[in-house]
Amino acid sequence: MSIWSNKKSWTALALLLTSAGIAAGVRHGGLSVEYTDARDRAQLGVVFRAWDGAARDLRTIGLKVPAEVSIEAAGSAAGFAAQTGEPAGIAASTRGSTIYTQRLSALATRGLLPFTIRHEAFHTAQPARLTRWLAEGLARTFSGEAVSDPPGPTGLESLPDAALNAQLLQHSTPRLNAAYHEATRRAGLLVRQRGWRAVLGL
Ligand SMILES: [Zn+2]
Repeated sequence: MSIWSNKKSWTALALLLTSAGIAAGVRHGGLSVEYTDARDRAQLGVVFRAWDGAARDLRTIGLKVPAEVSIEAAGSAAGFAAQTGEPAGIAASTRGSTIYTQRLSALATRGLLPFTIRHEAFHTAQPARLTRWLAEGLARTFSGEAVSDPPGPTGLESLPDAALNAQLLQHSTPRLNAAYHEATRRAGLLVRQRGWRAVLGL
């Protein structure tokens, strides 16, 4: 999963936008993208470039995206919530080789689309055995999202790993964001100390 900051303006926007419920699909190599809102068509180039870059960079650290991956972009925030059961602060969620995202143009407006695609690409390629906090922290380190995390302590430095895993599942946006930042801090430290391949167990 990847997060987006839960600004009030977005909530208002989401309430104004409804989808006609008609999906369109397009393929790019092994990647298929289905979207519901026609405005998302304009974002497909960004999606494909981000995907190709992620696949290349994943190979560099010893991972490989599956041969067939599908992205299903919801038509609205409500549609995404209904489809995934994820909280409002979540930008996307990957199950196996299917990536469920918020509306692509909504992610693009917030400057998150390439980061979200890279984050979820990591999840499609990661070793299955990674524990939740490590998977999320590594996905955010790989995607580049970590660069814009607030500097300074997360307040969760002494939280045991198992408790951090649990906090990554709860729905309060401030607590969820803090958990993602802490997972990313721990994962980034491991990557700097040991390198990607050792942390991934490759
Ligand atoms: Zn994630």
